[in-house]
Amino acid sequence: MAHKSKLPLQLLKKHFGYDSFRPQQAEIINQALEGKDVLVLMPTGGGKSICYQIPALVFEGLTIVISPLIALMKDQVEALKANGIAAAYVNSSQSNTEQTEVIDRARKGDLKLLYIAPERLFAADAEHFLKSLNISLFAIDESHCISSWGHDFRPEYRKLGMLKEVFSEIPVMALTATADKVTRRDICRQLGIENAVEFVSSFDRPNIRLTVSPGRKKMQQITDFLKASPGQSGIIYCLSRKNTEKVAEDLRNKGFSAEYYHAGCTPDWRSKIQEKFINDDIQIIVATIAFGMGIDKSNVRWVIHYNLPGNVEGFYQEIGRAGRDGEPSHALLFFSYADIMQRKRFIDESGADEEQKGVLRAKLERMKQYAEAQICRRRILLSYFNEKVEKDCGNCDVCLNPPKLMDATVLAQKALSAVARTGESVALNTLIDILRGSRNQTILQKGYDRLPTFAVGNDLKYEEWADYIMQMLNAGVMDIAYDEGHSFKLNEQSIAILKGQQKLQLANYISYSERQEMMNQK
Ligand code: ADP
Ligand code: ZN
Repeated sequence: MAHKSKLPLQLLKKHFGYDSFRPQQAEIINQALEGKDVLVLMPTGGGKSICYQIPALVFEGLTIVISPLIALMKDQVEALKANGIAAAYVNSSQSNTEQTEVIDRARKGDLKLLYIAPERLFAADAEHFLKSLNISLFAIDESHCISSWGHDFRPEYRKLGMLKEVFSEIPVMALTATADKVTRRDICRQLGIENAVEFVSSFDRPNIRLTVSPGRKKMQQITDFLKASPGQSGIIYCLSRKNTEKVAEDLRNKGFSAEYYHAGCTPDWRSKIQEKFINDDIQIIVATIAFGMGIDKSNVRWVIHYNLPGNVEGFYQEIGRAGRDGEPSHALLFFSYADIMQRKRFIDESGADEEQKGVLRAKLERMKQYAEAQICRRRILLSYFNEKVEKDCGNCDVCLNPPKLMDATVLAQKALSAVARTGESVALNTLIDILRGSRNQTILQKGYDRLPTFAVGNDLKYEEWADYIMQMLNAGVMDIAYDEGHSFKLNEQSIAILKGQQKLQLANYISYSERQEMMNQK
């Protein structure tokens, strides 16, 4: 195929109007043209499609593109056709006649690319169907969907393992924007392409500032945030559909341009909202994770996670929707223990088998580590994708405001002794009420106001205690029983601290507004 070596670049220019390939694209294309199996890990917006579209044009036969996103197929195919490329799709949204027509064209060799969802492919005899075509390449988009180690497992994807079994000579290109090392290995195993050449692009998006903030008074924090960046487009991700509606309404009541979006909305509503957002007619989308796949909007300036995501892959993909234009952008994550508990409950009740649950818990733990980090957050994020990081990023809240440590031994003793004296039965709010000496109903009923520890911590505000207690949990000097009303429990370290055998350092509390101010000065 040496005589074709110049072709890819010419085709790039001719059909897409670009003068050069992005890093790795040319090499990926060459490997595919040589008939190698390839695994491509490239962030969203990195330019994955070109990697199989150019080989599709060079090869004589047809390239089959497997994609789970029926809604996007149409757009992709329209864009290709507009660039003078013979592409089509078959999916269940088409009538039988339409489908037959497309398949006929594919059989006659009139097409270069055929997009198809796994459901449609396996709806009938896939082997028979594929054998009736002259196929040069299988491109498997969103290939992490094949792995139950990934975060978006789709059982139909599993059946794609048959491709290599039946068509061992036809190269496979697996593409994804979101797979850690374990998932990547699993993708190759499931697809039977263990010897695939792996390409892992850098995931660094240095223009996105990373911030984590305690998940309290979120509406207030969001309002402050929006006032600091007026008029800029952004996405707020919430866990529940109901919450998206509520947050959007609250924002509208405060005079912001905001709409909600989730999988329960009608298709009409969804496409209308999406379009308005893309055209800057709506400033803010409050959405579940249903929003964003395939949305090409370059000037999203910020992404806020109202709730903690269940894993780093999903989180990274969602914040990656900010700042595609390379301009300074912001990813703000709200973090609370309530979210961790809810996520854990989801996993417990998910009906997954024990192994799978273990994976989900480990992934959640990594997400939690990111949120609790006292070191550069980008280091944590990138090391998750096995990327070497030479130095701190200078563009995350930890880098910008390195935590100042203080001796918190006495403070911790106060909290731990209150936990001990209530028989390890109280949760966060009551514990803080005792420490701060609030005489409310619960306190009086239980007689907590007569404890020697009552009001020993009234020099600190509620927020301060909440922050320090959270840090104590992170430091492992106290436990929490999720299955007992989230009550705090003492452990060995707690006892050592109470006895004065162990000291404890915690980061000095900084309020959100103080932190914002400090960041704005940089
Ligand atoms: P992904 O599938 O990785 O999310 P796309 O394939 O949709 O990304 O590409 C993202 C954008 O980058 C598209 O607008 C695409 O046209 C553009 N692009 C891809 N490759 C190049 C290139 N070599 N030069 C300039 N733009 C490119
Ligand atoms: Zn940093």
